[in-house]
Amino acid sequence: MRIKWLAFGVAAGVLFVFERLHPLRTRKDPGPARVGRNIAIGLLGAATTAASELPIVAPAQCLAERRRLGLLRWTPVRRLPRALRVVLGFVLLDYTLYLWHWLNHRVPGLWRFHAVHHVDLDLDSTTGLRFHFGELALAAGFRAAQVLLLGVDRDTLSAWQQTLLLSVVFHHSNLELPIEAERALQYVFVTPRMHGIHHSSNGEEMNTNYSSVLSWWDRVHGSLHLDTPQSAVTIGVDGFSDPERVTLVRSLALPFETDPPRLTSG
Ligand SMILES: [Zn+2]
Repeated sequence: MRIKWLAFGVAAGVLFVFERLHPLRTRKDPGPARVGRNIAIGLLGAATTAASELPIVAPAQCLAERRRLGLLRWTPVRRLPRALRVVLGFVLLDYTLYLWHWLNHRVPGLWRFHAVHHVDLDLDSTTGLRFHFGELALAAGFRAAQVLLLGVDRDTLSAWQQTLLLSVVFHHSNLELPIEAERALQYVFVTPRMHGIHHSSNGEEMNTNYSSVLSWWDRVHGSLHLDTPQSAVTIGVDGFSDPERVTLVRSLALPFETDPPRLTSG
C-alpha cells in the first residue's frame, strides 16, 4: 500500500517538474496559489474516496462475491483463463468509465460537480487531482455498480484504479511529448494533447475525448477529436474566465450555486 502511494508520488513529482521544463501549452496561471488550490481539492477528494470505500464499494464487492454476481462470474466467462478474465475486467471497467464521464457532461446534477474540474483556468498534472468531493462520492456509487454488474474481483479493480490514477495525472499534464511519440501512444492511450481538447471552453471540443486510460472508446463512439492545435484551445468553462469565480471556496461551493455552469452542447 505504502509502496503504491510512494510510486504514485514519485511519478506525479517527475511529471510536475518535466511539464514545467517542456510545456505543451503557454501557462496562464503559473503561480503556486492555483497548484495549492488543486492539491487542497484533491486531498478532500482523496479523503472522500477513502471514506466511501467501507460503506459503499466494499459491501458491493462482498455481495457480488457471495451471490456470484456480474458478467465475469457468468459460467461461460468464468471458464476462460484467469489472465484473460483480468484483462477483460480491466477493459470493461475502462469502457464503463467512458460512459460515466459522458453522463457527467449530459446530466445537469452530475455536471454541477464535474464542472469544478473543468473550471480550472490552466491545465496541468494538478488538474488531474482537482475533482470535487461530491463528484467522487457519486463516483463511489458508480464503482459499486461496476463491481455488481461486471463482477470484477478486488485485485483487478485495484490494478485498474492505480493505472487510472497514473493515466489521469499524465493526460492532464502540460508535458510536451514529441509529436510522433504522442501519435503512436494515442492509438492505445489517452495523451495530453487529446485530453487538452476535452478541457476546451468551446462546447463542441469539450464534448469529445471522454476516454480515461484507453483511447479506443472515443474511436468506437465517434467522439474522438484530434485536429485542434493546443494553441487554439482556450482552457476552462464558458462564463468562468474570472479567477475570482474559481477560488478554493467558490470552487467547492460551485455545485450548490443557483447559477452553476451551464451544460455545453456539442
Ligand atoms: Zn470532463
